[in-house]
Amino acid sequence: MISETPIAAAIAAIRAELPEHVRLVAVSKTHPEEAIEEAYACGQRHFGESRPLELKRKYEALPKDIEWHMIGHLQTNKIKYIIPFVSLIESVDSARLAEAIEREAAKHNRTVDVLLEIHVAQEESKTGWDYGALSKYVAEGGFRALPHLRVRGVMGIATNTEDEDVIRNDFELLRGAYEALKPAFDDTFDTLSMGMSDDYPLAIACGSTSVRIGSRIFGLRDYSK
Ligand SMILES: *Cc1c(COP(=O)(O)O)cnc(C)c1O
Repeated sequence: MISETPIAAAIAAIRAELPEHVRLVAVSKTHPEEAIEEAYACGQRHFGESRPLELKRKYEALPKDIEWHMIGHLQTNKIKYIIPFVSLIESVDSARLAEAIEREAAKHNRTVDVLLEIHVAQEESKTGWDYGALSKYVAEGGFRALPHLRVRGVMGIATNTEDEDVIRNDFELLRGAYEALKPAFDDTFDTLSMGMSDDYPLAIACGSTSVRIGSRIFGLRDYSK
């Protein structure tokens, strides 16, 4: 008998459900390096983190072929910690942040892949671009002035509710925003990041190409650590 760890079992179960074109990002924030190593041992390579210094520490300790996704709100003064190695910054939520990433990326002579986080949830969470403001910035050619950013798509978080109609509506708004913005970018604009542990099947049904799953893989988070 091969004994499977809970992390390996969870990843296998999720993978069995994901259509081939949907990427799994394992959200490892707050969990220790050992948990990431367990996921890595079963072939998982995309991991999501939300704090820059924690992300840097894990990058330094773990295999270099891991693709690190920054998924949390990013303060401009913390960009420097992750810019040399981050694979995808999913949480670009303002022109000010995009422009600050441009400056840091230029310093490091690299082009950084990013997603535009759009606010759709009907609740407290304040993160994400207002769609109207974003589409105006795009129409005015804002991103053309940021050659060190490659905009790969859209990210969003649905309302935290049991009401499936509300969640579906949020995902449809994100899908609509993704489709509407796509013509303004080139064909590397290919990523619609939506869906978390409690809502990813619905997100996939609504067109997600990348799901961000934490607690269903790693268990509950302890933010005191
Ligand atoms: C924490 C987090 C997730 C993962 O949430 P789970 O419910 O644990 O799957 C996904 N996306 C973002 C932006 C997060 O901050």
